[in-house]
Amino acid sequence: MDRLGISHCAHDIAARLVQDPRMNLQQQIYCLVLHPRGINHPPLDFSQLSQQLQTQGMLGESFLCQGERRYRLGERFYQWLTFMGCAPALRLEATGPDDEKFCHFRFSESPQAQFSYLRPEVRGRCPHCRKAGTTAAEVAADYFAQQRVWSCPHCHESCAPQDIQWKHEAGMSRAFIELLDVHPHEVAPTDSLLNELATLTGCDWQYFYTSRDCHQIIT
Ligand SMILES: [Zn+2]
Repeated sequence: MDRLGISHCAHDIAARLVQDPRMNLQQQIYCLVLHPRGINHPPLDFSQLSQQLQTQGMLGESFLCQGERRYRLGERFYQWLTFMGCAPALRLEATGPDDEKFCHFRFSESPQAQFSYLRPEVRGRCPHCRKAGTTAAEVAADYFAQQRVWSCPHCHESCAPQDIQWKHEAGMSRAFIELLDVHPHEVAPTDSLLNELATLTGCDWQYFYTSRDCHQIIT
């Protein structure tokens, strides 16, 4: 255990490798992703936003990884994010200069909407009838086939793909703040954090869980 009470538990990482058959050994990284709601949000100034979040204590010092600026956990990290269960096993240090399998923040933005999901077989729920319908992989394939309106197989109502409800296991946006190397559903943003992000950016925020190899750029 370190001074924050976080255990660096190799057994826990090994258990994750066994549980997920798609696991690509050391490269499999799960993330919590914070993003503006929808795909038509205003452009974000990540430079200013990162400074503001450093001042708020969510982000710590920055460093370079794989040519990108990344951020360590800030001193008030645990006030902005809440953990389910006890003693989460977080790795806080990289094992090498390009190792990104440890808990830190990364910002990403794309001119196109990006659709990410935790697993291809995750099923979205219709915002009208609430029934589970199409899988994330099917939605992505439909989108690439230019079917940009999703139609519910149960009630046949339509909606935009970004309005499908995924129970925090998929999402679509153009800007993301990723918290790398955390278990899905183990950590979530507090309402205070989502409200703070809304205040700083002028748009609503939501979140989901994904893995680093499960995302697609949507044109
Ligand atoms: Zn429906």
